[in-house]
Amino acid sequence: MATTRLGLVSYDHGAQYLTARSAQFRAFIDELCSSGYAAPWKPVTSTGEQGGGQILPWFVGTPGMSSIVRPLAESVRIHTSRRVHTIDRTDKSWHIWFDDETVVGPFAAVAVAVPAPQALLLLGRVEEVAEPLARVRMSPCWSLMVRLEQRVLPDQDVYSDMSDVIRWIARNNAKPGRTTKGETIVVHASPAWSRETEDAEPELVAEELWSEVCHVLDLPPARPSQMTAHLWRFGLVDQSLGETYVYSSQQNVGVAGDWCLGRLSEHAYESGSALGRAIIASLD
Ligand SMILES: Cc1cc2nc3c(=O)[nH]c(=O)nc-3n(C[C@H](O)[C@H](O)[C@H](O)COP(=O)(O)OP(=O)(O)OC[C@H]3O[C@@H](n4cnc5c(N)ncnc54)[C@H](O)[C@@H]3O)c2cc1C
Repeated sequence: MATTRLGLVSYDHGAQYLTARSAQFRAFIDELCSSGYAAPWKPVTSTGEQGGGQILPWFVGTPGMSSIVRPLAESVRIHTSRRVHTIDRTDKSWHIWFDDETVVGPFAAVAVAVPAPQALLLLGRVEEVAEPLARVRMSPCWSLMVRLEQRVLPDQDVYSDMSDVIRWIARNNAKPGRTTKGETIVVHASPAWSRETEDAEPELVAEELWSEVCHVLDLPPARPSQMTAHLWRFGLVDQSLGETYVYSSQQNVGVAGDWCLGRLSEHAYESGSALGRAIIASLD
């Protein structure tokens, strides 16, 4: 649920929209909508209608997808842009070491909410947690952000499964609350193509993806005024765990994420909420 700003322009370069299957997640989204952090999105789809073909309603964060998590972060002390290098248990408590060799702690329990392969790097020594993590399979996804001074996409706001290379194209500025002169577009490459090209230079990937978009949509020649590719190295879930979370009540450390149950933000929400409850119960 990421939003990135390039110059004056913002793009949702990760999750595109939320859907809710459970009453609990729907209640959370309704609360976000009533406090202005989210809104329904009815893009023009291949049916030619706004919101055509949506089985469940689509919602987006406002003004960006990252707004979705802002209310959850209220009154919580958060350190950002610091990679956790190690988590270490001594004398029944945990310390967290960052890449810059600073440390925080002691903590009674730790919840790790990162993709399974990255969690495995941190928890490889906790056998009962590491073993299930190793079963999860995740794959990369290239995301392309493009800005054009003029509107170039045809009438549809979203396109899916356009070719072996392109999985998704969205007019980012068609989402509620995004005001941009011209057009902002987000493109996601297919998992297979992303895997083949994951070590390529982002500039080359951007050129390649944009020329494929122009080809599949038969766009008139238009040079983007901004074009950046970003790789989500562990973006998509190929094989989920099939359990809501993993928790060691012996060591008070657990792992949560979308990959526990599926591949959607709703799965991440369900997994994280359940791990939170398990930690509280075990510390009582
Ligand atoms: C391209 C793409 C499109 C998607 N589209 C949709 C969609 O339309 N609808 C939908 O519901 N879902 C979609 N998803 C899935 C959705 O983004 C995820 O389900 C959701 O973001 C999972 O949340 P999370 O908190 O479990 O993990 P993440 O969002 O993966 O967050 C984990 C965070 O941990 C950080 N991290 C990792 N290792 C460390 C470390 N060692 N130290 C510190 N930080 C670390 C990462 O940088 C990241 O910020 C999409 C995902 C991708 C990649």
